[in-house]
Amino acid sequence: MIGTDKDNVPVAPVGQRAQALKEILEEKGLVPDGALENVEALLSEFDWSNGARVVARAWSDPDYRGRLLQDGTAACAELGIEGPEGEYIVVLEDTPERHHVIVCTQCSCTAWPVLGLPPDWYKSPEYRARVAREPRPLLRELGLEIPESVEIRVVDTTAETRFLVLPLRPGGTEGWSEERLAAIVDRESMIGVAVVDATPGAT
Ligand code: FE
Repeated sequence: MIGTDKDNVPVAPVGQRAQALKEILEEKGLVPDGALENVEALLSEFDWSNGARVVARAWSDPDYRGRLLQDGTAACAELGIEGPEGEYIVVLEDTPERHHVIVCTQCSCTAWPVLGLPPDWYKSPEYRARVAREPRPLLRELGLEIPESVEIRVVDTTAETRFLVLPLRPGGTEGWSEERLAAIVDRESMIGVAVVDATPGAT
């Protein structure tokens, strides 16, 4: 059955419109082949635990860290981590003086291969507007108190960049294996709305 829109113009049924949209997305190469048939597989492939592995490697291997800061995409690919929305990974390194937080003020872009698909709060208009305008109070509301002495740098995604924050390695983790380090890194710390905590039971 053909319905009509508010101006009484005939429109195709939802199923047909969805199919047309799917075909054009695939035709233009905007989604991986078969991805729309199997969203579950897509979700499991793009997992932020990949980003945690990258962070743990960077903390453990200074040469790798250097390559990661130089060319995020290539360094992630070294660990077999790549794919759509991962073509332009730019890694932002936190220091004791500077804390990074990332946002896509236009929409909701993330580096899928390392951060997974964006969480709902990241896509919310509130987060996108407020993190740019008043990051310190917003982070405080999210439970992260950044001392006044530390600069907060809010970095907005562009068409050519997908960011990953390299958080500070917490004290007390000397000698930890990469696997153990990766286990304390969470998605929030790689977006910059949290820091990594090595306290037992913190994650
Ligand atoms: Fe976006």
